[in-house]
Amino acid sequence: MIFQMMQVGPLGVNCYIVGDENSREVVVIDPGGHARQISELLNSLRLNVSAIVLTHAHFDHVMGVEGLKRATLAPLLVGEKEKRVFESVERQGEMFGIAVPPLPDPERWLNEGDVVEAGNFKLQVFEVPGHSPGSIALYNAENGVVFVGDVLMRGTIGRTDFPGGSLEELLKSIRTKLYTLPDGTKVYSGHGPMTTIGEEKLLNPFTKNYV
Ligand SMILES: [Zn+2]
Repeated sequence: MIFQMMQVGPLGVNCYIVGDENSREVVVIDPGGHARQISELLNSLRLNVSAIVLTHAHFDHVMGVEGLKRATLAPLLVGEKEKRVFESVERQGEMFGIAVPPLPDPERWLNEGDVVEAGNFKLQVFEVPGHSPGSIALYNAENGVVFVGDVLMRGTIGRTDFPGGSLEELLKSIRTKLYTLPDGTKVYSGHGPMTTIGEEKLLNPFTKNYV
């Protein structure tokens, strides 16, 4: 598996580049900014981008989309239930005093059970609403890794006070989707360090009573 991580954008979002070592096809997850640095890294590693995927459409996760799309011509994939949040990106940025580059329309809307491919590397889509209505997690069973955006973080959970957020739904998403994955699954979040499903089940104080 190709695996690269970069902290990007004004709020330091984790952007992940993952894919297939043989074909050197990759998926870029959450290019939250620094599009030029991301494309330079892609070029220096001789990687081809099959798709740009958003775990959700909060403005800090999307600020590099426009630049990266121009550089790579890769299609943009977003959770279908995130449409309304996706369309509000400029307004979200304004509330933080940040101008968000205009977003291109997604080429594909993702739903539960869809698969995103980069060569022979596959990411399975789980709908995990709660932090935002159309949040998705991307799971690669072969390598035991899941990219969860802002749903679950080491020792904590995502905020639910943004439009369309719901604590009840968030906990349900974690319990019924993420916590059914093998304990050894590595969890890569939109912010902060890596963790595992097993560690969070044991130690995360926010989900303790729900496992
Ligand atoms: Zn978010």
